[in-house]
Amino acid sequence: MSTNAVDEALEQAEYTKVIEVGRGVLSQAGKIFIDNLLGGSPCLLVADERTWKAAGAALHDQLQAAGATLTEPLIYPGQPTLYASYDHAEEIREKLRATGALGIAIGSGTINDLTKLASGELDQPYGALATAASMDGYTGFGAPMTRDGLKITMPCPAPRVVVFDLDVAAAAPSPMAASGYGDLSAKIPAGADWILADAGGVDPIHPLAWKLVQGGVKEALSRPDDLAAGIPEAYEGLCTGLVMSGLAMQVAGSTRPASGADHYFSHLWELDHLGAELDPPLSHGFKVSIGTLAMTAFYEKFLEKDIGAIDLDAVVAAWPSWEQIEADIRSTMTGPLIDKGINETREKYVDAAGLRARLTPIIAGWPALQNKLRQQVLPAKELQNMLGRAGAPTRPEDIGLTPAAVKETFPRAMYYRSRYTVLDVSRELGLFNELVDEVFAPGGIWS
Ligand SMILES: [Zn+2]
Repeated sequence: MSTNAVDEALEQAEYTKVIEVGRGVLSQAGKIFIDNLLGGSPCLLVADERTWKAAGAALHDQLQAAGATLTEPLIYPGQPTLYASYDHAEEIREKLRATGALGIAIGSGTINDLTKLASGELDQPYGALATAASMDGYTGFGAPMTRDGLKITMPCPAPRVVVFDLDVAAAAPSPMAASGYGDLSAKIPAGADWILADAGGVDPIHPLAWKLVQGGVKEALSRPDDLAAGIPEAYEGLCTGLVMSGLAMQVAGSTRPASGADHYFSHLWELDHLGAELDPPLSHGFKVSIGTLAMTAFYEKFLEKDIGAIDLDAVVAAWPSWEQIEADIRSTMTGPLIDKGINETREKYVDAAGLRARLTPIIAGWPALQNKLRQQVLPAKELQNMLGRAGAPTRPEDIGLTPAAVKETFPRAMYYRSRYTVLDVSRELGLFNELVDEVFAPGGIWS
């Protein structure tokens, strides 16, 4: 990806101003944080025992040597794995408040999310020293959190400065990079969803955000064996790709650049507490891997259809009323997801005239659109093989599910969010059930 695109993005991004990704950058981290975040302010380092050992102690020594004011660091136990609960964020927030310090998160998902939320609630910037290529949340806004027993994403700004040393990432436990690899692989079907939403006039592509995420994704996924072997050079694409995903979300002001229906599978399983009893719990990226494979297989079947030959009048005549859709949501979703599904789906529901307007460019522009989508997505078996080599899950059983459970998640994923994806397009074209059946038919990735 061009440095120009990154510079342009950093200029446009509301919060993140400095990103340093490279081999050995940990040795410069103290200076980078002093120059771009701390100035003369005191600093609170937040880590757990493992991330402290991996990078925190080194940063601490550099800051101390440079004369920075350090408050006593907050180091959580390495085991059991720290949980993203709001109480921890409050604890960090009160420490920041009491000391007047700016926070630096040393770690990956949870530590970063907690420090992000704590800093956001005080309306102050923070920095992140990444320790694993495990997910794309480093530069993202918002923090997924458990509060009063519920999982929610709490709004808060992205970090001002992110430092990501490839040697540190390569030395982290190997399932972490496998998880980040799964999260990054989702950008492929997510990009296809965006192409379709753009074609239907629902959600235009943001060119810079697109370039940031899609510009390097295939290359970043091209060395699964080297990643699994912990070869630092192979981490450059992955770490950069993960950081660029968050930056793209900042630039676009939406999560659209980084996620499509692939992520809704993961969110729904998360709400079902899938793998929550494990230590560490089943990662976001591992759930996303299976969601991504499900969507990639779905795209493969979708692209085999001659959509250009579909009779638009017949499709519009068969389009269900909102009452029919609402009844289907009530029988598909459960508990609080019924209301969420109704509200989210209502946002993307259109009447017959709206449907005609949305599908006309997709049907009329089919051969060209089909080509564009074919260039975007990978064959499902190829992606399955790549995920496996990276150490990520490739079958529902790998994350404690059955193919039937994944199949039953498809309609829930369609109703879960207002975002327009290939699941909606297929339903509107009258192809949804047929395509889902085809994904699980003999000869497929999970038969
Ligand atoms: Zn993700």
